[in-house]
Amino acid sequence: MIISYRYPIFPSREVEQKLVEALDTCRWLYNRLLEEINKARESGKTLRTYDTQNLIPLLKTENPNLNKVYSKVLQMVNYTLWSNIKGLSALKKNGRKVGHLRFKGKGWYNTLNYNQSGFKLDQDHSILKLSKIGEIKIKLHRKVEGNIKAVLIKRAGDRWFALIQAEQEPKQLSETGNVVGLDVGLTSFVVDSDGNSVENPRFAEKAATKVKNIQRKLSRAKKGSNNRRKLVDKLDKAHERINNQRSDFLHKLSRMYVNRYDIICAEDLDVMGLKETGNNKGIHRNIHDASWSRFMSMLSYKAQSAGRKLIVVDPRNTSQRCSFCGSIVRKELSDRVHECPYCGFSSNRDYNAAVNILSTGMEQPVAPIESKPLHHVSVMQVLAMKWEALPFRVG
Ligand SMILES: [Zn+2]
Repeated sequence: MIISYRYPIFPSREVEQKLVEALDTCRWLYNRLLEEINKARESGKTLRTYDTQNLIPLLKTENPNLNKVYSKVLQMVNYTLWSNIKGLSALKKNGRKVGHLRFKGKGWYNTLNYNQSGFKLDQDHSILKLSKIGEIKIKLHRKVEGNIKAVLIKRAGDRWFALIQAEQEPKQLSETGNVVGLDVGLTSFVVDSDGNSVENPRFAEKAATKVKNIQRKLSRAKKGSNNRRKLVDKLDKAHERINNQRSDFLHKLSRMYVNRYDIICAEDLDVMGLKETGNNKGIHRNIHDASWSRFMSMLSYKAQSAGRKLIVVDPRNTSQRCSFCGSIVRKELSDRVHECPYCGFSSNRDYNAAVNILSTGMEQPVAPIESKPLHHVSVMQVLAMKWEALPFRVG
């Protein structure tokens, strides 16, 4: 299984110059190979991927700069070109009107692809070493696990990123005998069938004033000015910080569930629209849904690589049904408590739903259910999570 990581990198001025030159050489190669393909087509010939690949060494006399770029990176330019061509012809087959593949203008080639070789990542010293480029400082906010298969260097305006793809061996965890149901909380991020209620992270809201401040200054800054560039950079960094915090939270929480439970049951996102939405619309709801969707995909790949099971269940009626007697007990979004008039069972609404999700996923009633006060887990506790001392209640 391939896991992707994205980290900011900070090349020195000298190295940055080399990166810029390498990108421009790749752009030249891309255009040059495209030209050959077009020429061949006009004269009724068809070139294939390896034909253009074999051209690369020959072109080195035409453009000696090709010698300054790692050979595998040049090969990947060829692959990128062909995958663009294939993408375009797929569109054509689908009846879309598309023109010819375009040449890349200056500044429009932004990725160096180190595939399989030509890179070395020193995680202890946060240094990424690239063949024919040199050493670059990398900010590893999360450790790369597994075998690195590829490193892509990406330019985004003034900033640089490394996208790292690593292959992870499935690491089977030993069985715990625990199963759990997860409910997407409306007020909390998740409430589980063991009665844990994990606080909703509001990283974006917490940084909102700061972000708004920068945006206001930005709207007044003169176009093309140095000040404006600095503010754009500041805004990017603020957004990135929010993203990193959110990722960290989601990774740790999903890791916790995968480590502690053999089977995890959660609601199917695709039919989530059926779930009551009520007055909880708008920006916050969007952030929450996006986070939940990322959380689910993390759960899914982490469970898969650990030999755990993630069961996705139909969300219909999970909050309306009584988890004790199975009766449907209608409630409004504002009703935070489930009170069953048929059997007398009463509990927190989301906890009742989590138990229903678990029993639907396991296709059997889970018994005995007891109403218990929810165990609150704060965002800070999740972020500070160490596996030896979990702030969670299990079983
Ligand atoms: Zn009941």
